Amino acid sequence: MIEWSDEDLMIRDAVRGWIDAEVRPNLDALDSGELPPYDLLRSLYKTFGMDEMARSSFHARIAKEREGGGKTDGKAGKKDADGAGGGNATMTMLPIIELCKVAPGMVSAMGVGLGLAAGTIMKRGTPEQKERWALPLLTMEKVGAWAITEPNSGSDAFGGMQATAKKVGDEYVINGGKTFITNGPYADTIVFYCKLDDGRDPRDREILTFVLDRGMEGLEQSRPLRKMGLHSSPTGELFLTDVRAGADRLLSSGSQGGKESARQNFVTERAGVAAMALGVIEECLKLSVEYARTRELWGRRIGDFQLIQLKLAKMEVARLNVQNLVFRHIEMQRAGRAPTLAEASAMKLYAAQAASEVAQEAVQLFGGNGYMSEYRVEQLARDAKSFQIYAGTDEIQVTHIARDLLSR
Ligand SMILES: Cc1cc2nc3c(=O)[nH]c(=O)nc-3n(C[C@H](O)[C@H](O)[C@H](O)COP(=O)(O)OP(=O)(O)OC[C@H]3O[C@@H](n4cnc5c(N)ncnc54)[C@H](O)[C@@H]3O)c2cc1C
Repeated sequence: MIEWSDEDLMIRDAVRGWIDAEVRPNLDALDSGELPPYDLLRSLYKTFGMDEMARSSFHARIAKEREGGGKTDGKAGKKDADGAGGGNATMTMLPIIELCKVAPGMVSAMGVGLGLAAGTIMKRGTPEQKERWALPLLTMEKVGAWAITEPNSGSDAFGGMQATAKKVGDEYVINGGKTFITNGPYADTIVFYCKLDDGRDPRDREILTFVLDRGMEGLEQSRPLRKMGLHSSPTGELFLTDVRAGADRLLSSGSQGGKESARQNFVTERAGVAAMALGVIEECLKLSVEYARTRELWGRRIGDFQLIQLKLAKMEVARLNVQNLVFRHIEMQRAGRAPTLAEASAMKLYAAQAASEVAQEAVQLFGGNGYMSEYRVEQLARDAKSFQIYAGTDEIQVTHIARDLLSR
């Protein structure tokens, strides 16, 4: 794939038109956190029939699984790497790229609910669990969160995990806290990771994954945390005190265990960040070229100065490289192949750094105007910084790339 097809461009333009009409007028309210993104995301889904597409592909998949005796079709999971039923790779990527030009947080909010929360239930749930919890997430009726990070774990997500589930009779009693959870304040459905408290050393304990519902006794969801950017994606804390969950809420650990399944999510999430980065880079480059053409100083447009030209050239190099990564990923999805952990981590590391650098350089190119919200690049710079932190920090991507390469 070297370019978007004509059909892709038609989809892109339609999504762009929707964003111009529905999202841009609400940017201030989204960026102040005053307007949660969910109604807009639902409207996107309805406008483009994505809710119905998700519903019909869900039912087809469940029917197939039931025919096969309730077993999850491993091949389906491979072909459809997000596990969320989106067969058309470009149809998944284009809205991500276009939304990230305007409000990258909306993509985080959407990606966590669909890719991580619903994706985990689709990979590891029984048909009943999928019907009960994944379907309303996939159609965007409900908001989903995916909770691993804790105040004392972070990059050492499993090693340092302190949240526990203790078996009492037929139930599990869950205690612990999570932080930095995307959609945490508004989530209806929470995929919650903790350790089985069976008396073993905490580092050796089995990882369990539960599906929890808003309003369960003992579950508290915080208000959105104040943060640097990405305000159209509410982030919060979860506090669990003696939350009682039946075995019907426990997801299967499968043959590979809960840790491995969460790692597969890292691969999906990291590849998605490259598409997000592409949106930010394309928008910053477009705005910078326009500004370099029109801003006049010393009797010339600033685009005539070589130091400004260098910034534009570096942005174009980043755009080409990240676009190539996204196109390669689309081709791999079409071929039914998933990237290795090293490939997905390399993609995320490069794309996140490129988006952050391009957006910072765009602020610089705009001078004082760049520092003002009206010119929009400052919001993109604040938002893009988050790409280097969530879904594994830059430093963790380096360790994952090296570990994967050295283990072969
Ligand atoms: C906007 C946002 C949304 C998020 N959404 C979610 C979510 O939905 N669900 C969820 O579970 N989590 C979420 N997170 C949490 C995110 O995954 C963590 O912030 C991230 O993994 C880093 O953990 P930490 O913040 O505890 O930093 P720490 O792990 O404390 O890291 C501190 C510093 O040490 C570095 N470091 C750590 N280990 C090493 C090492 N081995 N070698 C070198 N350097 C190292 C890190 O790179 C970093 O620079 C979100 C975070 C943000 C910012």
